[in-house]
Amino acid sequence: MSDQIPSLYQMRCPYCGNGDYIPLGKKRSAFQQVAGGLAAGALPVTAAMVMNRQARDLSEIKPLQYKCAQCKKKYEFAPLAAAPEEMLESPCTINFQRVKALKGSAEVYTVYLNGAPICTVSNGGTFSFETNITYNNIFVGMGDGIVFHDLFRFEATPGAVVNVRFAGTSMVR
Ligand SMILES: [Zn+2]
Repeated sequence: MSDQIPSLYQMRCPYCGNGDYIPLGKKRSAFQQVAGGLAAGALPVTAAMVMNRQARDLSEIKPLQYKCAQCKKKYEFAPLAAAPEEMLESPCTINFQRVKALKGSAEVYTVYLNGAPICTVSNGGTFSFETNITYNNIFVGMGDGIVFHDLFRFEATPGAVVNVRFAGTSMVR
């Protein structure tokens, strides 16, 4: 199967149809998530690799759990292939910075673009990556399961640069 661009643009709550949500991460208890995350020890991925990994085999991306912002019910969703109308004429660059913070300083964080893990970043780390689609969201997790519930949603424009900063457990706004 050819690689495709992961997208959450079509994601809607299966109970009420709402498109606003909070990422919850993998469906396990918080304690198990911490244990699994530490054991996983994901290796840092270089920016070049990240860009090459934009298009990927969607069957390799595990579904995550989300909570509907409207009816508060939980559901699972894995990214779908971006439709042609979601594609940008040229990519938009995202400069991601994990601000050096005391909280979680020893943990390596995983950055998710549109529901797909794309890179790991240590405390104080920065990296840049591109998105090829218009509607994006970024959230951050730890190891192989926990995600912080703060979601950064944005509409990308071709050739633009978006700066995203994350400190401790939430986005810097
Ligand atoms: Zn709902």
